[in-house]
Amino acid sequence: MPKINRLPAAVSSLIAAGEVIERPASLLKELLENSLDAGARQITVEVLGAGKKSLRITDDGSGMDAEDCAACVERHATSKISALSDLDKLQTFGFRGEALYAVAAVSRMTVQSAMKNAKSGWKVDVEAGKIISSAPAPAVVGTTIEVRDLFFNTPARLKFLKSDAFEKSALSGVLEEAALANPGVHFTYKSENRTTLHFSPEDDRRRVASVLGKDVAEGLLPIVAERPGLRLKLFVSPVERMVPSRNFQYWFINKRPIGAKILQQALYRAYQEHRANGRHPVCVAFAELSPDSFDVNVHPGKREIRFKSDREIYDLVSGLIASALAKAKPATPITPETAATASQELRDHVPAYYLGGRSFFPNENLLDLKSAPTQSFAPAPASPRWFTPPYRYIGQIERSYLVFEAAGGLFVLDQHAAAERILYEKFLAQIKDGPAKVQRLMLPLPIELPASRVQAVLSQSERLAKLGFEVAAAGRTTLHVLAAPALFSKAADLKDMVHRLLDALENPLGAARDVQHDAIATLACKAAVKAHDALSPQEALRLLEDLKDCADGSCCPHGRRAILALNREELARRFQRPGAPPL
Ligand code: ADP
Ligand code: MG
Repeated sequence: MPKINRLPAAVSSLIAAGEVIERPASLLKELLENSLDAGARQITVEVLGAGKKSLRITDDGSGMDAEDCAACVERHATSKISALSDLDKLQTFGFRGEALYAVAAVSRMTVQSAMKNAKSGWKVDVEAGKIISSAPAPAVVGTTIEVRDLFFNTPARLKFLKSDAFEKSALSGVLEEAALANPGVHFTYKSENRTTLHFSPEDDRRRVASVLGKDVAEGLLPIVAERPGLRLKLFVSPVERMVPSRNFQYWFINKRPIGAKILQQALYRAYQEHRANGRHPVCVAFAELSPDSFDVNVHPGKREIRFKSDREIYDLVSGLIASALAKAKPATPITPETAATASQELRDHVPAYYLGGRSFFPNENLLDLKSAPTQSFAPAPASPRWFTPPYRYIGQIERSYLVFEAAGGLFVLDQHAAAERILYEKFLAQIKDGPAKVQRLMLPLPIELPASRVQAVLSQSERLAKLGFEVAAAGRTTLHVLAAPALFSKAADLKDMVHRLLDALENPLGAARDVQHDAIATLACKAAVKAHDALSPQEALRLLEDLKDCADGSCCPHGRRAILALNREELARRFQRPGAPPL
């Protein structure tokens, strides 16, 4: 008995549909692409029930005649290519002729369209892939496609969808991408009968700001480059304005939003030396490539692309960004003059013998130990292993490290990492001692974000409430923080925190604990003394003593080392003393 069945068309179409249309957002993406391919200058999208109940898109593009209105829902029906060789010249988003076919198979759909100068338009109703009615319609130039009851005949797909809040956020994310890539096009987006996004034609720089919000978009550096077969335009963060979230990176190739690891790697390579832990560059990048230098035919969603030469594009992008950053860098403190000033400053503080004296650590050193609160500590029973009193404070070096002589060795503290750890544990203890102390802000703190991000935050408001944050929508692209843990006293810290939360919330499984850890670690980092802060000997010793009481004083909350000990053996070994233990 043969085992191979030929699937009926009704079944195979549903399977094919699943590959192209996963959720309302992928439906919107296909429909937007079709409108843009048709040359639309004005596009309106109206969504009900997070796109599951209905999604309607109206454009003023080229329109279709009666015949095409019916043909467009057939498989492999496309006006964009007719032969394989056309793929290399492709200038449009679509070319497979599969999207409308796939949508029609899993919904109830109406296509209404009219071409310029046509006497009449045409309207076609389709249900589960079958045309059920076809009739003349008013001659309004352009196309309206309405998709109702998405996945009504594929309940398994329907079940696979996430919460309305998630689907809505994905929908506006798709619209934001289209808006970024097409700044000359007018977009209106209505969700549940309210206009939630609106972009009038503007130049690309303004459009970036309209979509990302002023906070994120301010000060972005424009980079423009042209090579044979390639035009690039990027907007990237200057090094001092990175954001605490990796959410604001957009890549477009020929206006198509794409995810290409290689480009992201090139971006991070350019920022490598400038990037502090947890800081990320903002990047909106538009590349115009000749269609034969990459292959979009890789994934049905067309999100992944392959370059013909990965290495070339990587080098180009990271090189361009790196040199733009170098040019835009604020005057660096390590120029020859400033270095001279710094060492002058140091000399002012350091007795001459310190630089040329007999002993490296003379007894009569920089500080008056008698005025220090404690010169040595009695070892507490619960002290950590590294804590080997008595200690003598020797001084600060590099304006960042505190040097002590410990029992039998040398001991160096990173003052920022140590302070961070101490505050982190203090804040943690405060929160553990009961519910987070919440303060209502006198005035709501506005935070500008892309609408999709605003929705993402709002959809997690319960989780946030547990952490002491109360947030509310204030317009499409603004979030208001109404209350926050009492630990936050500065608006800038709070803003920073919300950005970091965005990243943590991206991961639906991210435990509240992780978010909390991140919140507290950020706060501790902000509040802690920084490298380059001058510390008094008393403060230095206090830091050491407080670090001793930490549950884990060996590193800062981000995992960076806080203390370094060179014990007697290590020193002996370094100086190749006879009898020293070998390396
Ligand atoms: P593709 O975009 O790959 O060609 P689609 O299934 O998305 O396939 O669309 C099929 C065809 O329907 C398109 O090639 C185009 O000719 C026509 N079409 C779809 N949407 C529109 C629109 N908004 N305006 C004009 N023509 C459209
Ligand atoms: Mg298409």
